[in-house]
Amino acid sequence: MRAARGSLQVGAFRGIPIRVHFTLLLVLPLLAVMFGGAFRRAAEVAEVPPERLLGSPALWGLGVAVGLFASVFVHELAHTVYALRRGGKVRSITLMMVGGVSELTEAPPRPRDEALMALVGPLASIFVAMAFGVAIWLLQGTRSFNLQFACFYLASLNLFLGAFNLLPAFPMDGGRIVRAALTGRLGAVRATRVASVMGRGFAVLFGLWGAFVLNPFLMVIAVFIYLGAEGEARQVRMKATLERVPVSALMTPWLAGVDAGASAWEAMWALRQARRLALPVTEDGRPVGWVGMEAVGGVSEAERATRTARELMRPVEVVGVEEDGWTALRRMAEKEVPQLAVVAEDGLLVGTLDLADVQRGLALYEARAERAGRAERGFRQERPA
Ligand SMILES: [Zn+2]
Repeated sequence: MRAARGSLQVGAFRGIPIRVHFTLLLVLPLLAVMFGGAFRRAAEVAEVPPERLLGSPALWGLGVAVGLFASVFVHELAHTVYALRRGGKVRSITLMMVGGVSELTEAPPRPRDEALMALVGPLASIFVAMAFGVAIWLLQGTRSFNLQFACFYLASLNLFLGAFNLLPAFPMDGGRIVRAALTGRLGAVRATRVASVMGRGFAVLFGLWGAFVLNPFLMVIAVFIYLGAEGEARQVRMKATLERVPVSALMTPWLAGVDAGASAWEAMWALRQARRLALPVTEDGRPVGWVGMEAVGGVSEAERATRTARELMRPVEVVGVEEDGWTALRRMAEKEVPQLAVVAEDGLLVGTLDLADVQRGLALYEARAERAGRAERGFRQERPA
């Protein structure tokens, strides 16, 4: 449910779209320029004579930028492959500045799996760094300075990625490991709250440090960590609440939809009367589709008497009235639909559920849970994992 807004798809891995976040695209040229400026010093650190290196510093800078890109990709792929092996489902991979986001539609069920999934990314980065380290060692004395230098910066980048991601700054990998370690004792909601506070603390430190040394990267990273920590804590809280609320308590009751045989005129009339942009279409009381104002409005006036709701409707996704709110919300996200038709056990329409319904219910139940929590010290909101 973490949205990957502001990103560009660049490829796919086993059908999972791989996207690049715009911040990485912005950072690459900046990094190229910065590295170009620090080229001589970097060469000295790598014990390579700068005058023996081919190409311009700017070109090497570009190489570093591409190297970072590739390193982030390897890191993120490690997370994804592990998640898939553990039976998780990955919706998309977004490459960001210091790592990425593997958007899971199903999170690993056990804290241990989550911890391991978080750990494999940094481990992969450190492993790659070590491999390049070995390559540098093998290249000693061969006078292949260009290769040596390339290996040096790839080793450094991966070591940095591995180490940085292990910091307990939730939602970065290290923070996820901390959260998983706390989940057994505190439950998912409280463990996430603690990890989130730590993450925000780190974000403030990074931000201050970035401002002090005038490093724009650090400041951007700080903002990302802060918002990420806050967003995930909110999501976990939301999940804990919605899991305990049945759809019947959230939905808008709706016993009759537009009949499948109704004309476009009738459908339009029903929509206007209900003051809704879309209504379920039913056949013998069972939902078979959705008809929207847009579809009805697109029919010419001459045809409105002859076209039927059945011809104008789009597919419907349903949720059982006994299912919980979180399941419903996840179904909306997975099927990419703004609303669900709610059905009783016999398949008959009993209501509709959209995001507004869920949000309203969530606000109500969270307020109630908070009051209950205040009234009864030690009350555990969440189910122990
Ligand atoms: Zn990672």
